[in-house]
Amino acid sequence: MAAATPLYDTYARAPLRFERGEGVWLIAEDGTRYLDFAAGVAVNSLGHAHPHLVSALKDQAEKVWHLSNLYEIPGQERLGRRLTDASFADKVFFTNSGAEALECAIKTARRYHFAKGQPEKFHIITFEGAFHGRTLATIAAGGQAKYLEGFGPKAPGFYQVPFGDMTALKAAITEETAAILIEPIQGEGGIRTVPKEFLQELRALCDEYGLLLILDEVQSGVGRTGKLFAHEWSGVTPDIMAVAKGIGGGFPLGACLATEEAASGMVAGTHGSTYGGNPLAMAVGNAVLDIVLADDFLPHVRDVALVFRQGLASLADRFPEVIEEIRGEGLLLGIKAKGPSTELLAAIRAEKLLAVPAGENVIRLLPPLVTTAEEAREGLARIERAAEHLTEERRRASA
Ligand SMILES: *Cc1c(COP(=O)(O)O)cnc(C)c1O
Repeated sequence: MAAATPLYDTYARAPLRFERGEGVWLIAEDGTRYLDFAAGVAVNSLGHAHPHLVSALKDQAEKVWHLSNLYEIPGQERLGRRLTDASFADKVFFTNSGAEALECAIKTARRYHFAKGQPEKFHIITFEGAFHGRTLATIAAGGQAKYLEGFGPKAPGFYQVPFGDMTALKAAITEETAAILIEPIQGEGGIRTVPKEFLQELRALCDEYGLLLILDEVQSGVGRTGKLFAHEWSGVTPDIMAVAKGIGGGFPLGACLATEEAASGMVAGTHGSTYGGNPLAMAVGNAVLDIVLADDFLPHVRDVALVFRQGLASLADRFPEVIEEIRGEGLLLGIKAKGPSTELLAAIRAEKLLAVPAGENVIRLLPPLVTTAEEAREGLARIERAAEHLTEERRRASA
């Protein structure tokens, strides 16, 4: 029997079909152009069909697509060296996705204590509202009931405390605690920024109790906040970090970064991945870094972020009936809606602008990092029209 769709019904998809992309634009099958400030949920960091990424992928496609990790892969060594040179880390493991990068981070932390003769230290403390992926371990880490329900017993060893609650956090630390895992800015959770003082306290706490600090920068990393990694704003460095999304610019790529000390338990045979570090992914990852690491790139992200910030703040002032608050850092931005965020999201989409829903009634704006000031202003004008229409509609409805 043929089902209505052969696909799992796991996604509530919008009835939109895109044929191609050009920079910040997505073009639908009927020719309609959408300004893409969803960017594949922070994945298309350099927009669509960036010529440098396209040529890197084509060049590699004509040489070799896949090699087993039984052999040396020069693209991995190059990308790994560039990431460690540009960050706190000494060691890198490549994956295909964010959840896999988190799995590697969790395994690295547990194995560190195991190798130190303390196998009982495997508990990981996380924060309410977190999102770390959809594998069995990462839904346990995220702790959200809606993602855990019906999938058997929650994977053991994950404990959650309220967001920003230092007292609860201290009370949750035991002899069995291995690590603290946190997103510097909660993405799915509603663009909630962790104050830098809180990150600094976490670092001090980890040092005091011999715990590892794991940062999930899958969404906030690779230039999204105007620094290469969001934690750089706090001056604090983690022991382990998960990265994905923007680092591949649209090609499936993730990475787990660690200090040499934190990675010391991950000896030969302890972990692996068939595709992780695949030559095609490495070619694209290196091409992304060619652009993101150029001297003028992050200053550009910060300049455009300011245009957004000021524009959105003014819209929040002008449309208090539909916008409650503006959140976020750099180009990881949130509009907290007044009234159902689904209505504002629909009004924005009617203006041919794509954005992403998040928790706490927030709409995420994750424009490609290459967005120009002019494109930012075009996006703001569309949000303005959407806010105007929604305000009028609501006034009419209540009149
Ligand atoms: C998207 C995301 C993940 C999961 O990444 P996948 O590539 O979907 O597995 C994990 N953590 C954060 C913060 C994310 O935004």
